[in-house]
Amino acid sequence: MTSESSTADVVVIGGGPGGYAAAFRAADLGKSVTLIDADPRLGGVCVNRGCIPSKALLHQAAVIQGVREAAQHGVTFGAPTIDLERIRAWKDEIVTKLGNGVGDHAKRRKVRYLRARGRFVSSSEVEVTPLPGDESLAAQRVRFGHAIVATGSLPICPRLFAIGDVRVMDSTGALELPDVPARLLVVGGGYIGLELGSVYAALGSQVSVVEKLDGLLPGVDRDLVRVLEKRVKEQLAAIELSTEVTALEPRADGVAVTLRRAGGGEDQRLFDRVLVAVGRRPNTEGLGLEVTGVTLDERGFITVDAQRRSADPRIFAIGDVAGEPMLAHKAAHEAKVAAEAIAGHSAAFEPRAIPAVVFTDPEIAWCGLTESEAKRSGRTIEVLRMPWGGWGRALTLGRPDGATKLIVDPETEQVLGMGVVGAGAGELIAEGCLASEMGALVRDVAETIHPHPTLSETISEVAESFFGNATHFVRPRKERTPKA
Ligand code: NAD
Repeated sequence: MTSESSTADVVVIGGGPGGYAAAFRAADLGKSVTLIDADPRLGGVCVNRGCIPSKALLHQAAVIQGVREAAQHGVTFGAPTIDLERIRAWKDEIVTKLGNGVGDHAKRRKVRYLRARGRFVSSSEVEVTPLPGDESLAAQRVRFGHAIVATGSLPICPRLFAIGDVRVMDSTGALELPDVPARLLVVGGGYIGLELGSVYAALGSQVSVVEKLDGLLPGVDRDLVRVLEKRVKEQLAAIELSTEVTALEPRADGVAVTLRRAGGGEDQRLFDRVLVAVGRRPNTEGLGLEVTGVTLDERGFITVDAQRRSADPRIFAIGDVAGEPMLAHKAAHEAKVAAEAIAGHSAAFEPRAIPAVVFTDPEIAWCGLTESEAKRSGRTIEVLRMPWGGWGRALTLGRPDGATKLIVDPETEQVLGMGVVGAGAGELIAEGCLASEMGALVRDVAETIHPHPTLSETISEVAESFFGNATHFVRPRKERTPKA
């Protein structure tokens, strides 16, 4: 029974990087804000079950791998001892610290945080249902001026995998690090499959990845993926492309998985655990959207305009629930746009470059226009590419397996996008974001003095190659006069 009611200028449903950023911005703009989320602490999937815990585990994987490789350069350590309980505790400490930090920010901004489920009962009212057993909060309704839906996404679990066996996990289950299975099957060669697959491989599992398409990380430029693929092949037991799982059978000694290859051929193999990482879907169930004017597209994303306003003028949507790419930093940016639009500003979500980073070893990062997208759309571009093989800093790190590329408009000479594969690609990409977003000319990048010896120099060096004047890199072409 709903016994109480309150009002808020802005109600935000979902407390992830999109939701909390929207709530904070709206509060900073003088709005009264109620933020509703059912998780034990704020931060959403990113903080609690996604970006942050996975990066903590990936860091440990990198340490293990780094120590292993140090032996090739004269420093030998013993084999690592894996204390799973301690690794888990360390990961959880980080998650708790960050989640509590978000909660503190909410308090300081006087955002009213309700740990509960929210559901629309009209275009101006949300019903708040406390979690089972929670006596501290009464069921209530909150009338709002505007609402922002930031409920994120959920892992896709095809029916085939829903066999009710704990050994078949999604990313949330895998991040719990229940054990180090001797044989792990990862279904899906995308972001999650490769990131978590490499964690388990570093901890000692024999990891096999099956991907139904003919390449890992579909959609990502193939030249970048090839560099990653070469290295992960050494770390993983098997990568099977154009392969699908057609059946799963729980047995006492493991999960028997039937694999079918596109070219024909089928076999059954036994694994101790299976990680299903075949994508995520927008989380709109149980939100009561049907009683509002909100509409969904054919993939289930809430349809929004440039301000992130849905078809219902009082309701906005941001983050994974409002469309691809499903990335935290895109959600956080949309959050500010939505809150500012609600406050009457002329904000719009019109980025030129949304970066994406796959935190594998090596990392892959890209932003703006990619070579693949340009090919698909028929746009004329010039691709500048430099492998790291002879690059000083890459050699001193023992990591010459990398490449930097810039996508340039040959007419305007503007930087349209950047791609990097290699150690620290996720940090390096920021320069490409700035250049693409500002519409920088390739000359701006070429003439910016980069610190030596760093990997960032590969960015100015590759830009110089546009003019045929790169010092360490011969790219035969006629001299060009930089545009003013
Ligand atoms: P994904 O879309 O990256 O990869 C899923 C992969 O599974 C695809 O390659 C797809 O072809 C394959 N696939 C689908 N069905 C299959 C099947 N039946 N058998 C074998 N392969 C199959 O999805 P994900 O890895 O689950 O990640 C979901 C989303 O989460 C990503 O799109 C990304 O936006 C986000 N994410 C981001 C990061 C990051 O920013 N570093 C990390 C993890 C997740």
